[in-house]
Amino acid sequence: MNCKNCQNIYSGKYCPNCGQRDIANIRLKFSEIINDFFDNAFNIHKGLFFTFWTLLINPGKVGKSYIEGQRKKFTNPARYLIIAIAIQAFLDYWFLQPELTQQPDFVNFYFLSEKVNKNMAFWNHTLATKYSLIHNLSMILIFPVIFVILFKKLKYNFTELLTINFYYFSSGLIVTLFAILTCIQFFVSGMKTPLIILVTFSYVIWANMSFFNEVRFWNRLIKILIAVVLFMLIRVFFMIYVLSVLFPIV
Ligand SMILES: [Zn+2]
Repeated sequence: MNCKNCQNIYSGKYCPNCGQRDIANIRLKFSEIINDFFDNAFNIHKGLFFTFWTLLINPGKVGKSYIEGQRKKFTNPARYLIIAIAIQAFLDYWFLQPELTQQPDFVNFYFLSEKVNKNMAFWNHTLATKYSLIHNLSMILIFPVIFVILFKKLKYNFTELLTINFYYFSSGLIVTLFAILTCIQFFVSGMKTPLIILVTFSYVIWANMSFFNEVRFWNRLIKILIAVVLFMLIRVFFMIYVLSVLFPIV
């Protein structure tokens, strides 16, 4: 076969020099454009749905395979994250608009002034809606930082833990969105926030329990719960408190 993309002469399904498929060297077919689109845009051929399903039933396997070098088996983690964020943006826009426009009730911290509490409710809502992209991206960093320290003995580095969190955070996001949509279906008025948080953290705990499975059960569970509590403290308190003090609106 003579590769029309790079002129390399080879045999096999893909050009070893540039990766173009053999089928691309024959006359253009419309089905080929469609196939290429999905392959490039959504990575469907390498199993987006397979990746999502495996992340639900055996999340540890996906993370470990990727770290250990099986990088073609599942959808690329950065690509998976972008797809999850795109799904979120799509669902927010088409289904959740009315839910998102009204500011939900927020925790009232008795040890803070009423003014600070009001600002915090505002910033909680603003972060989740107006700045949701940058907010989500900054949230991804929290678990890897905590896990590098708590699971130091396993010798994973920050990049490895961040990469697997691309998978777990994204799947958590998708699972949460389905939970929200289900809530809207069944309890038309108002979202059931505690239920949604329960769904999200159940997945996060499940995914990390599965990933760190060489650590003994209680040791592993306690460390993951510490990470969840720290995450909540940062998300529900510190970040919002700092923003409310620096940029008050009332
Ligand atoms: Zn080539």
